[in-house]
Amino acid sequence: MRVLLVEDDPVVADGLLRILRRANHAVTHENNGKRADHMLTVEQYDLVILDLGLPDMDGSEILRRLRHRNVQVPVLVLTARDKVEDRVQGLDSGADDYLAKPFDLPELEARIRALLRRGQSASSAQLQLGELTLDTVGRRALLGGKPLELSARELTVLEVLMLRAGRVVSKDLLGEQISRLGEEMSSNAIEVYVHRLRKKIDAGSVTIRTLRGLGYLIEKK
Ligand code: CA
Repeated sequence: MRVLLVEDDPVVADGLLRILRRANHAVTHENNGKRADHMLTVEQYDLVILDLGLPDMDGSEILRRLRHRNVQVPVLVLTARDKVEDRVQGLDSGADDYLAKPFDLPELEARIRALLRRGQSASSAQLQLGELTLDTVGRRALLGGKPLELSARELTVLEVLMLRAGRVVSKDLLGEQISRLGEEMSSNAIEVYVHRLRKKIDAGSVTIRTLRGLGYLIEKK
């Protein structure tokens, strides 16, 4: 499982990294809020462990922005603030679970396992076309069983196209559906993302065709 750990306290981060790596997760550690926010726009994770007090951007803002982009990755919020109102606020802004510091390790491990299980059972919303699989809940795509490195925006474009596989999707409709998923893209941006997507999936049995003046079509070659 791919885990993003966002924690600026080096002692807490080291302890968590040890536990997560022992459980064979691929962990990326980030200690800066703004950089973590950026990483969540370009990478996909199976779980995010998020501290609230962070330099440059606090954890609740990262979480708000993540959910605004419609990313459903499970998020476990860590915080030293153990007041009830903070807990409620954290869950309201889209956290799946909440743990107040200091926490004991067996409890943390149990919560992580529960969240990862929940994430897996929710991932039934899969779209399939040839060797290309898109998990719309886990927000990731596989080509021939191998993960494709797609940005959040590329995933959104791919989702709209795959929902209409074999049919032509006009650029206007693409833009409209993308904004319904919570993102705004100009016509030029759509062209760029389609171009990038085509390059990334073209190694497989699926391609995106451009029909001049009509739109795009994803289909098996
Ligand atoms: Ca902190």
